[in-house]
Amino acid sequence: MSATRILLLGAPGAGKGTQAARIIERHGIPHISTGDMLRAAVAAGTEVGLKAKAVMDAGQLVSDEIVIAIAEERLSQPDAKQGFVLDGFPRTLAQAEALDRTLEKLGTPLECCLAVTVDTEAVVQRLLKRAEIEGRADDNEETIRERMRVYDAQTAPLLEHYRKTGSRKAGSRKTGSLAEVDGMGTVDEVFERIEEALSGS
Ligand code: AMP
Repeated sequence: MSATRILLLGAPGAGKGTQAARIIERHGIPHISTGDMLRAAVAAGTEVGLKAKAVMDAGQLVSDEIVIAIAEERLSQPDAKQGFVLDGFPRTLAQAEALDRTLEKLGTPLECCLAVTVDTEAVVQRLLKRAEIEGRADDNEETIRERMRVYDAQTAPLLEHYRKTGSRKAGSRKTGSLAEVDGMGTVDEVFERIEEALSGS
């Protein structure tokens, strides 16, 4: 039985969005991306969108308060009962702790934390290419470097958080397990590694 409550971690441009799309197609579970939800809020001109736009365009993080609220709201919807792929949330330790509490309350703890690892320079090149294709305002070189710096400072430490929660022993319920997956290679190759990691969780 494959894990269906999945967290995807990885640097910006590691291919999380692409792999999340493959996972949801294969397993029929919702894709929960705070980046997509924030972009939708910006496009709709909501209060959250107005607050988030400048921060997103600068490659920085939207406040924990805002993203925790939107992620909790989404995870509480009925379709997330059967599973989910979290992509781009959590990005800070405070968000990870809030997520742990929310999932505990909902009775749906994480089953697998997948860390997609890539080489940073390859990622920068991949993001520059995506910027050309999609015309995202947060994909110019300066912003890309800033997003990498923010990832290293604030999000990379989450690997340690999930390594620890993944190794909880008998007596307390296992809340997740960290699987590191090599994100270099074709989309199919990476997806195959992900499927293997999921079936082993
Ligand atoms: P993404 O599509 O996941 O790369 O997200 C795009 C942008 O949205 C990020 O660079 C942040 O400005 C913002 N964002 C998305 N998710 C989060 C989060 N969990 N915490 C803070 N900011 C976020």
